[in-house]
Amino acid sequence: MNFSLTPEQDAIQQKARVAAQEVKARARDYDRQGRFPQEILEIWAREGFFGVSLPREYGGRGGDYISYALAQMELAQACPSSALMLHVNHAIVGMGFSLFGTADQKRRFLPPMARGEVLAAFALTEPQAGSDPARLQTAASREGDGWVLSGEKNFVSSGQAAHFALVAARSDLQAAPHKGISLFIVDLKKTPGVKVGAVEEKMGLVGAPSVSLHFDRAPLPPDAVLGEANNGLKLALALMDHARVGAAAIAVGVGRAALSEALKYARSREQFGQPLAQFQAIQWKLADLATDLEAASLLTLKAAWLKDQGRPFTAAAAMAKKFATDTAMAAAQEGLQILGGYGYLKDYPLERLFRDARAGQIYEGTNEIMRLIIARDLLKGE
Ligand SMILES: Cc1cc2nc3c(=O)[nH]c(=O)nc-3n(C[C@H](O)[C@H](O)[C@H](O)COP(=O)(O)OP(=O)(O)OC[C@H]3O[C@@H](n4cnc5c(N)ncnc54)[C@H](O)[C@@H]3O)c2cc1C
Repeated sequence: MNFSLTPEQDAIQQKARVAAQEVKARARDYDRQGRFPQEILEIWAREGFFGVSLPREYGGRGGDYISYALAQMELAQACPSSALMLHVNHAIVGMGFSLFGTADQKRRFLPPMARGEVLAAFALTEPQAGSDPARLQTAASREGDGWVLSGEKNFVSSGQAAHFALVAARSDLQAAPHKGISLFIVDLKKTPGVKVGAVEEKMGLVGAPSVSLHFDRAPLPPDAVLGEANNGLKLALALMDHARVGAAAIAVGVGRAALSEALKYARSREQFGQPLAQFQAIQWKLADLATDLEAASLLTLKAAWLKDQGRPFTAAAAMAKKFATDTAMAAAQEGLQILGGYGYLKDYPLERLFRDARAGQIYEGTNEIMRLIIARDLLKGE
């Protein structure tokens, strides 16, 4: 076993660290003003983070998934909202095209995504189908050579900024619920019958707009299906494995940011004639967080490594996602406590990190669903 990074992995980690420093101070303003962090996404695009592990022949950097996870662990420390939008582009939609797209789809969609010129969205969740996407009701029927799409999606990240979305819809109404679903590529800007709902008012990740999407007999071309038709739920679940590694990496970043703020404060704030950091009760909190964050990072990198090796990583990704997002929440919670009353003020980053961390326990499958996946893997035996 070798815990050293390769020179390429080390280089991307260093680069992401520098880029995160460049934007860190601005993340607060985007959160406070509820603004879209265009400027931050442009910096990350300029530095090549949108294409870290997308294929080189389609404009990506051709790095491994460990590199992507390492980059997100740094970038999310600065701006979790921007990290989430990069994540949807890269870990879900970009991976979707890389793994399942036709040569033509890869040629058309991957290069602008890898350059960060277009934002993509992933639309699986519906008002009646959250944890159980097999029950989704959005449907596409054949019309002429193409398709006509009708239905509703919600919680779609990247919101009105997204140029196109991968939309999961029922394409065979006769099939069993978990079958007969396809992933459709839908141009959100030009397709008639597509309406983007108002931006939801969220607790955190304010810079990453969430919207509903409404499709009213939206016409789609014959080649709008990603991969094999009627096999879309399987593809979506495979993409969720990739997404969970990314979500875990983001959570490690958020947790590290919380620990770093708490450490800084504990060193400088004095009570009872000494810095808070001298109190054993505070040291124990810091030690527990550092330990759990290290474990979260290792679980995340292990899941990414399994993916890079072409080995099954569904359960590993679920473990990483569950543990890392719970750890990020604990880091934000305990970090805020270490700042006392100041932690509760918007002037200090812990308040935002606390709100941002909370979403990680819900998106890309809730942590209850992660337990179902892990238990299913355990029970299936060897
Ligand atoms: C910030 C954010 C961004 C998101 N981005 C996207 C996106 O880009 N695209 C997208 O498609 N979706 C997105 N989502 C939606 C997200 O994936 C869903 O919210 C999530 O899958 C849960 O679905 P639900 O909210 O309908 O909750 P429900 O499925 O209704 O679950 C409610 C509660 O019941 C629990 N529960 C459900 N079933 C079980 C079970 N079998 N056993 C035990 N407990 C169970 C859940 O864990 C949860 O605690 C996003 C959500 C958030 C908060």
